[in-house]
Amino acid sequence: MARVAAASRIRMSNPTGVVSFSFDDVPQSGCRKGRGILESLDVAGTYYISGGFTQKLVDGGEPFHDWDDLRSLMGGEHELGSHGYGHLNYQQISIDEVRADLEKNRQFFSELGLERPLQSFAYPYGCLNTRVKRACAELFASCRGVLGGINTRTVDRSLVKAVPLYSWKLTERKVASLIERAERDAGWLVFYSHSVIPHPNAFGCTPQLLEFAVRTAVRSNCRVLPVGQALEYVQQAHPV
Ligand SMILES: [Zn+2]
Repeated sequence: MARVAAASRIRMSNPTGVVSFSFDDVPQSGCRKGRGILESLDVAGTYYISGGFTQKLVDGGEPFHDWDDLRSLMGGEHELGSHGYGHLNYQQISIDEVRADLEKNRQFFSELGLERPLQSFAYPYGCLNTRVKRACAELFASCRGVLGGINTRTVDRSLVKAVPLYSWKLTERKVASLIERAERDAGWLVFYSHSVIPHPNAFGCTPQLLEFAVRTAVRSNCRVLPVGQALEYVQQAHPV
């Protein structure tokens, strides 16, 4: 129900396709290796950070981002987004607890020195309901989910469709075909991943797959933009 209810739909007017690369939580390999790959191809990404994960270990041992990773990301072209502070399942807690968790992450970034409130948000675990969706849409320009494929013709800014860039799930051929579809339909394709390591768990990708995806997107006619800029691009008037 929530996937269609409380929609905040925008008609897309972008003349060319758009591809965004994003990372959730974010493990250190996403902030370092992933970022390095993006920058080597002159692309900026969106990093949806849960402040509660800073300096912690991912299950299985990989470290999450640390303070220096965040400061360094803030100083560059990349976009920082919110993923809530405690990485909570928003379907299982009250709306007041949801708001408190979002506020805690806002404060976390404010203490880190970020002056502007974050504009982009991704639902932890992709979990939401109608009330959560409304509350998040009030606070952020865009709220990204974890499902749905390519945003085409319209985009629900309170539930932006996305595609997991996970190595077990996507071959290079599938990645290329998604980018081709975004190009052909002037769609907005938002990839997300977590770790970027040679042997990722179910929620990550190899450096090779990420590099392939970014390179393919850059070589296509699509614009490659962080989520916040992509949202502006798809809704602005484009004179022909
Ligand atoms: Zn997450």
